[in-house]
Amino acid sequence: MIILKTEEEIVLMAQAAKMVAEAHQVLQQEVKPGVTTLQLDKIAETFIRDHGGIPAFKGYRDFPSTLCTSVNHEVVHGIPSNRALREGDVVGLDLGAIVHGFYGDGAVTVPVEPVATQVHTLLKVTEEALYQGIDQARVGNRLSDIGHAIQRHVESHGFSVVRDFVGHGIGRQLHEDPQIPNYGRPGQGARLQYGMVLAIEPMVNVGGPQVQVLDDHWTAVTTDGSLSAHFEHTVAIQPVGPPEILTTVRERASVN
Ligand code: MG
Repeated sequence: MIILKTEEEIVLMAQAAKMVAEAHQVLQQEVKPGVTTLQLDKIAETFIRDHGGIPAFKGYRDFPSTLCTSVNHEVVHGIPSNRALREGDVVGLDLGAIVHGFYGDGAVTVPVEPVATQVHTLLKVTEEALYQGIDQARVGNRLSDIGHAIQRHVESHGFSVVRDFVGHGIGRQLHEDPQIPNYGRPGQGARLQYGMVLAIEPMVNVGGPQVQVLDDHWTAVTTDGSLSAHFEHTVAIQPVGPPEILTTVRERASVN
């Protein structure tokens, strides 16, 4: 069941999502050779708690950390560790925060410069695909229009879309209905409505779409060892036009 949010609830959700975006801004400046993913995790946790939030992932199904840090061929759900980042790496930083009982969720993938040209292309295409999916999240469209737009953009660049993990509704729970695949035929699934708040999150591989989960029961990696990227925004569907992106550091224009 898809739980629609009131405008008052979206105001609260925007606070959680903004905190995620602000933490990402801080984290991106800390990504450099030598920093460990555990250090990034501590920075994220301190930021969230100092600003009155609760880390959403820590303790979720016993996940140990505030951040998911997924390096290179790790797709999602990497566990922060003493691994030091090196030049040429990419690291996905997936972060959730709870504020006033509502969740915000967002992810970015950051290069540890200098990186190869193809790495920049992968990051650019994945982020572009996210925005193309977001642009479809509007009243009058159906759910699968989001994933269709994402898949089309990704595959037009010769990359592949991960099938095993999907985006999701979000609210008082981290994962609510509907599931949002990043692929599929257009015009299928639920009609999009004002009040839906969605976490849209394409995961894109340079090689094939297959992934597997490591023995830590969390870290998903590409089966062929190819590089992977992940970007995510929490968005609120509007009465008309494109959705409002809640995971942003900007002030909300719609607050009166
Ligand atoms: Mg998510």
